[in-house]
Amino acid sequence: MKLILLGAPGAGKGTQATRLADQYHIPHISTGDIFRANLKEETPLGLKAKEYMDQGLLVPDELTVDLVMDRLAKPDCANGYILDGFPRTLVQAAALDAKVDIDAAINVEVPDEKIVKRMAGRRVCPKCGEPYHTEYKVPAKEGVCDRCGSLLIIRKDDEAETVLKRLAVYHDQTAPLIDHYQAAGKLITVDGTQSVEAVTDAITTALKA
Ligand code: AMP
Repeated sequence: MKLILLGAPGAGKGTQATRLADQYHIPHISTGDIFRANLKEETPLGLKAKEYMDQGLLVPDELTVDLVMDRLAKPDCANGYILDGFPRTLVQAAALDAKVDIDAAINVEVPDEKIVKRMAGRRVCPKCGEPYHTEYKVPAKEGVCDRCGSLLIIRKDDEAETVLKRLAVYHDQTAPLIDHYQAAGKLITVDGTQSVEAVTDAITTALKA
């Protein structure tokens, strides 16, 4: 099964991708995670990507496409994969279309107001990477990581100004992919405002159909 998850930043793509990857026994490939891992290791790619990520902008297609194509060539992708956060531009979609025939593009739909509210509450542990939320995943002690006791931070790309920029970029560059996959007869749209479990159920039901 070769799947793509579409949707605005904060729509819950990462959560759904993890669940679907478990369910279908396929790797979850998140370009955001790959860039963040590179940044942590301070690789040249990570440092370059940071310039864009911190501003809420997309990393240029030429860096992103090669990275994903290399990843898709790995043996664990032989039976499929779930792409989370790629493609994000029509250029990236065309590069993917040229190499693979995906089964479905799942659009997790959440209105902008809800996205802003969700992202404003995000916190992360700078040491172990554990994610938290001021409403949905509250740590036992406010502002402190349950796992390692470090003080939680707001990721630079979750800061209010960056979130608004990321949403604008999403509408401008990524939302056109919805029409692209609709035209290809591959689009599945689900209501991303439901519970995590209900969103997964909606996706798996649509995939069976
Ligand atoms: P994410 O965790 O998917 O929201 O990605 C975090 C950031 O990584 C984005 O705001 C972009 O700066 C960058 N990024 C992730 N995926 C892509 C992509 N497919 N194309 C360009 N930039 C990306």
